[in-house]
Amino acid sequence: MAVEHEELQARLGEQAKATGATYFGVADLSKASEFVISQGGDFLHQFPYAVSVGVALADGVIDEIHQHDNAITIKVYGHHIYSYVSGRLDMIASTIASEIEREGFLAYPVPSTGACDQKRQAALISHKLVAALAGLGWIGKSSLLIAKGHGPRIRWVTVLTNAPLTSTTENANGFARCGACTLCVDLCPVNAFTGDRFDASVPVDERFNRRGCEQYLIERSQTFGSGSCGICVYVCPHGWSQKRRKSDRRTTPALLRDQLDGLSWDGPAAESQDDQQGQPVGN
Ligand code: SF4
Ligand code: SF4
Repeated sequence: MAVEHEELQARLGEQAKATGATYFGVADLSKASEFVISQGGDFLHQFPYAVSVGVALADGVIDEIHQHDNAITIKVYGHHIYSYVSGRLDMIASTIASEIEREGFLAYPVPSTGACDQKRQAALISHKLVAALAGLGWIGKSSLLIAKGHGPRIRWVTVLTNAPLTSTTENANGFARCGACTLCVDLCPVNAFTGDRFDASVPVDERFNRRGCEQYLIERSQTFGSGSCGICVYVCPHGWSQKRRKSDRRTTPALLRDQLDGLSWDGPAAESQDDQQGQPVGN
């Protein structure tokens, strides 16, 4: 990478952090071009790279999700994600896009939230896949991006570009480390996850019952006035906050299940032997 492009990448990272990003990385989309094009369309060919930015959610909000039927908890969680963090992500993406275009390259900030294809309920591109390709984490059994340090307690945004940036994959923790854990699979109220390991060649709908989750959120919206759940974000041990890490008693799976007492779940799934070792994701 030419010096001026290295400087641009460093500047983008600094800008992202200065405007509130917790994670910054660059993905080489050629590793998943077929999937990316099939999801977002042919025009994505013009963007061989993508900048991935993540903003950490507030532990104080996530740690209360065990109060699953508390209307205040539900509303605050929904507001935190959709009104606050998503707006911050879009602002950061816009800033990065402006900087890239000032250098004479194309930039396309993808909205942080919302489906572009209403029929398939699919986004233009998977922010989680881009973050995984950038080496910022792995896609867990919950189909969420699990980042080292914050687990799934992150929201992501993507800026597509033709600027010749350098993939950050080799510098980061790009391996699946769910191991034998099945907490998100066991505790999802609608059993939305099969528990299968992420495979970029397999459609997400074969691992995740998106419609079941959406229907559950609609029902919660009718009951509580806010359609949020967040149990799959809350339970993941990789995201347990420092406050909770200090107390083993608060982090055992048994206690988590007690806290979520009343939800329908059929007990822990059998341990998956083939998931003991880390596996590369996103290629
Ligand atoms: S948000 Fe709730 S219902 Fe939806 S997948 Fe996660 S745990 Fe299941
Ligand atoms: S809760 Fe367990 S299985 Fe689910 S994503 Fe986190 S580590 Fe993986």
